[in-house]
Amino acid sequence: MTSRVDVNQDVVVRFAPSPNGLLHLGHAYAAMIAHDYARERGGRFLLRMEDIDLGRTKPEFVDTILADLQWLGLEWEGEPIFQSQRLDSYAAAAEHLKDIGLLYPCFCSRSQMRMLQEGHPQKEGPDGPIYAGTCRHLDQQEVASRMETEPNSWRLDVAKAAKLTGPLSWHDERHGEQLASPETLGDVVLIPKETPVAYHLAVTLDDARDGITHVVRGQDLFASTHIHRLLQALLNLPAPIYVHHALLLDESGSKLAKSRDSASLSVLRMRGIDGYKVIQELREGNFPVGISLSEG
Ligand code: GLU
Repeated sequence: MTSRVDVNQDVVVRFAPSPNGLLHLGHAYAAMIAHDYARERGGRFLLRMEDIDLGRTKPEFVDTILADLQWLGLEWEGEPIFQSQRLDSYAAAAEHLKDIGLLYPCFCSRSQMRMLQEGHPQKEGPDGPIYAGTCRHLDQQEVASRMETEPNSWRLDVAKAAKLTGPLSWHDERHGEQLASPETLGDVVLIPKETPVAYHLAVTLDDARDGITHVVRGQDLFASTHIHRLLQALLNLPAPIYVHHALLLDESGSKLAKSRDSASLSVLRMRGIDGYKVIQELREGNFPVGISLSEG
């Protein structure tokens, strides 16, 4: 799809949905904010499908997302980008991080982690419990033999990595200059057991590869930026400017979520509701009854 606006290469923004469910109003709001951010600056608005969770991604969700965005009148430039077509580049970056000694194999299963948590309450991070570091210092022999028989993920040794890069910061247009403190999330998994690559690694590489100058996304991803900034420094990638926007909340104050059956855009579309009007209302801050905007 080509744009009708003059393209200014200076500002490049993306909307990056995961095609593992139906989009809801929260996504329409996020897509609109990113789209308008680019348009108001004469920049480019790209669409990237974050379809790396091969078990949960479904082609019908991709088709529905494309139809929803067209219905909303949010036009993107060029062909949609698919992360599933870039798996080699993620694997190469992970190999590099392994070569420089920053990834370690982790054998912990979800149930083991839960048990560990019950025995010794783990610190809660913004993304859930912070990994206790059980596999961080296993001896080489144990690692070699377990790798022959047990599946493993690969985790980033955040303390070691942060020592290598020294202090890092990023600029957030809503929140100002931020000092990166990646230890807030602990030793995140970069290569999971079940999927080819984790969100943190794929998104960092792709924002650089796609020339994204401004990462405009929801406030719920603010904490992840600590890790993304660290990965940028380790992989020699530029740091974009960040704009973490407010989120749409339901009556109970929780963010709208795919899993909570928030009214999907495709249902509104099928009912014959005008998508342009939906976007216009969101733009003007007129939200449906029971929906409000977060403050943070
Ligand atoms: N794929 C992520 C999601 O659907 C968004 C990632 C991002 O904007 O960095 O929540």
